[in-house]
Amino acid sequence: MRVLLVEDDAMIGKGLVTALAAAGMSVDWVRDGAQAESAVHEQGYAIVLLDLGLPHANGFEVLQAARREGIDTPVLIITARDHVDDRVAGLDLGADDYLVKPFETRELLARMRALVRRRAGQATSSLVAGALELDTETHELSSGTIREVLPAREYALMLALFERPGRILSRAQIEDRIYGWGEEVESNAVDVLIHSIRRKFGKGVILNVRGAGWMVAKS
Ligand code: CA
Repeated sequence: MRVLLVEDDAMIGKGLVTALAAAGMSVDWVRDGAQAESAVHEQGYAIVLLDLGLPHANGFEVLQAARREGIDTPVLIITARDHVDDRVAGLDLGADDYLVKPFETRELLARMRALVRRRAGQATSSLVAGALELDTETHELSSGTIREVLPAREYALMLALFERPGRILSRAQIEDRIYGWGEEVESNAVDVLIHSIRRKFGKGVILNVRGAGWMVAKS
């Protein structure tokens, strides 16, 4: 899945990019508030990790502007400010969660998983679509008796479809959800991923809607 990281501290930023990439995510990293205000408009981010103390515009301003414009991407504030006033202000402005630095990567990843599940309207670690189940913790997809851990890109693709079963995603929408800036995307990349998933789980696992895109069945 694709994540927008807003962090001006080079050391923390590099560490987070490495940790998130190791967890199979594509990370776009911006280092100031002005860049963040424009980057949040991009479709395809599963989560925005937002620092508060930033050059040009602070994290509160970025968040407020984004929510005013109707951008509903989940936002997790990551900051060294641990005053209750800051936490309350962040949550009231529309942040979904708040994590105080320093934190352990595994807590960050667990909170990110929780936000992804909440967005998909499910409270446990598994997302369900019809007869399919996708575990956000282990990245396992199950269909009947078949159960396999998906590689990062295949997981990102299924996660995008699982967010709203029954909704069609176009090729461009899927690419936005999987690939970060500067990543070379072959024109048939999505087909290759879908082919690979279908080879393991059967053709019916992903439904093709001719000329429109793909979806997973709702029931
Ligand atoms: Ca900062």
